[in-house]
Amino acid sequence: MELGFTNPFRRWRPKGRMYSLKCSQCGNGFLSSYSLEAPICGSCMQVAKSLDSTIDYDIQCTTCGNKGVIYSKKQCHACYFGLGNKDGEEK
Ligand SMILES: [Zn+2]
Ligand SMILES: [Zn+2]
Repeated sequence: MELGFTNPFRRWRPKGRMYSLKCSQCGNGFLSSYSLEAPICGSCMQVAKSLDSTIDYDIQCTTCGNKGVIYSKKQCHACYFGLGNKDGEEK
């Protein structure tokens, strides 16, 4: 009568895959359920969000030339955080 045996470990499967990532800003390791190209930890994300609200749209990004840079920086949000370097153009 062992045909109805159910594996007790079947219920042990984690809900989602967790990725062990390293923050691209501060280098701290952290876990995320997403595999990110430019991983950023929680604390740096908070900084990013606060910086994100202060964009100077009169200045061009020195890297990609887009209008709008992070206040007191010379790069746009994407370049500063390494999120959007599509055509690695360098000067
Ligand atoms: Zn970080
Ligand atoms: Zn840029």
